[in-house]
Amino acid sequence: MFYKMKNILRLFVIITIHFSCQESEQETINEKFIFNYNLHESLPNEWVTEFYTIIGNLEILIPAKPRSYQNNMNIYSWVSNIDKPFKKNIGNTTGACICGNDKERYMVLEIPENEFKFNQIHRYSVIAHEYFHVYQMSLSKSFFDGDIELKWLTEGTAASFESIFIQQFYEKNYFLEAQTEVDISAVSNPKIFEKFNSSSDKDQNYSSSVFIALALTKELQKKGISEEKAFRLIYKDFWELNPTDNNWKIKFEQLFSFTVEHFYTKLGDYTNDLNNVIPSENIKIENIFN
Ligand SMILES: [Zn+2]
Repeated sequence: MFYKMKNILRLFVIITIHFSCQESEQETINEKFIFNYNLHESLPNEWVTEFYTIIGNLEILIPAKPRSYQNNMNIYSWVSNIDKPFKKNIGNTTGACICGNDKERYMVLEIPENEFKFNQIHRYSVIAHEYFHVYQMSLSKSFFDGDIELKWLTEGTAASFESIFIQQFYEKNYFLEAQTEVDISAVSNPKIFEKFNSSSDKDQNYSSSVFIALALTKELQKKGISEEKAFRLIYKDFWELNPTDNNWKIKFEQLFSFTVEHFYTKLGDYTNDLNNVIPSENIKIENIFN
């Protein structure tokens, strides 16, 4: 009986697949965003265990939505003292990034050897940073397509999220540990942080971008918006508007109710000290995204 039922079921599945293929050439989208893990044996077991815990937490807190343009991703990770063990898949890519080509995007996490030697929290925070970009891509096809640069907001959100994640799960202040080198241009000439090229020497570990993004949450709070909602606006709602290099200023004004120029002028009232803009120590990611 069971055997017969199984065959009927199988036949039904085959027919269904056949018909859905005929009806549409579209690839089926996974119900959930799928990561394929390529973790090299050079990584310590302790890190690998923590890696899966972190990804599990992120998938609950900010699940990347599966989209027709992207519903799965390979993650390649190894320790920097090993020479490019995934060369056949990702070429000469090193460091940490969401990188790739026309065919595929992947997450690369080459963890510097010293981060294990000195127990640096960056070996974990980098996972949250790169995952945030995957989340961002799932909200905005323009960001996925590379049609928006706007570094201070694309990286300022990922890097500040990284610190909030570390604050919540590891009780360390990564803002003060690694993101305090805010350049004076962040308040005097913030426009240069819209492009990577014009600000790469003034944005150590994205400190200046983090500063500008956090200052934006402060300006929103001055309008009576809660801290959690201010973060949700820059982490989620803005990306859902699918901004591009051409229209982001319009979307910015639409969502935040003040112009980019107004915001840049307001930055001039700040000193380039991260302490003036860091979020509450008790802010919770689940309350930002609920
Ligand atoms: Zn980034």
